[in-house]
Amino acid sequence: MTRRPVQSRFPVPLDRVNGRGGHTGRARSALAETLRPQAPLQHAAQTAAQQASGRAAPSGLGLDSAAVRQRMVQRLRADGVHDDAVLNAFATVERHRFVDSALAIQAYEDTSLPIGLSQTISKPSVVARMLCLLCEGATARQHGHLGRVLEIGTGCGYQAALLLLLGRSVVSIERLKGLHDKARENLVGHRHGDLRLVYGDGRLGHAPRAPFDSIVAAAGGEDLPPAWLDQLAVGGRLVAPMQDAARGGQVLLVVDRQPEGLVRQWRDAVHFVPLKSGAE
Ligand code: SAH
Repeated sequence: MTRRPVQSRFPVPLDRVNGRGGHTGRARSALAETLRPQAPLQHAAQTAAQQASGRAAPSGLGLDSAAVRQRMVQRLRADGVHDDAVLNAFATVERHRFVDSALAIQAYEDTSLPIGLSQTISKPSVVARMLCLLCEGATARQHGHLGRVLEIGTGCGYQAALLLLLGRSVVSIERLKGLHDKARENLVGHRHGDLRLVYGDGRLGHAPRAPFDSIVAAAGGEDLPPAWLDQLAVGGRLVAPMQDAARGGQVLLVVDRQPEGLVRQWRDAVHFVPLKSGAE
């Protein structure tokens, strides 16, 4: 993936980045349902649930072995990922448990995979890039600790599981009920931190738990939803794919809320599924 030079770097008032004013009040009404994952189950029960839903890894493929994830971590390191906390999260979370059993064999290749309902899980190198951008550079957070995290686009829950290892708490929003339910099932047993899965329109953020130290979107829009900036804590960082008219494609946008204002940087060219409005 290519790096592009910083296109704009400026402390600016909120409405210069938004193009609009604050909209925090809208967020409360629109979230249809707030759910917590169920209490952790024993491993056997978890495996049974995954088998019943067709997402258990086929036995005999060696995917349960830590070595298979270590090889993925070595490739990420060779590709320039040097954040130990991020690499450790990739070494820990079993990506093959988040995809269909037929695709599990590809889970540790650097490839995006379908997760149903026309959505995809991003390839590990792109997820790693997003997490590294979140981890680096924020003044009010300790390196490698993302604090209170908001994720937009839960999908199958894989990135939420990584974020749980990097942050103090994670709120993850998904607009497709089918995927919201699937993620909840996939995340049973991932109780390393405080996780809240929300079914609703992530463009509205999650005002009840705001402000957030880290905000990350897994779907790309035309503009930055005002609620995300409203809900970004001072010292916090937002990373989101966004359409860049000048470039004619999606680019990762990084926004830091510094005490004196918002600082925006355009980074890597990317290709994420679209950020949509409303919930289905
Ligand atoms: N982080 C996910 C990636 C999922 S793909 C994972 O690890 O699997 C992006 C997801 O964003 C899709 O599931 C899509 O339905 C969701 N999405 C798109 N627009 C959204 C919105 N406005 N609010 C919440 N989720 C949204």
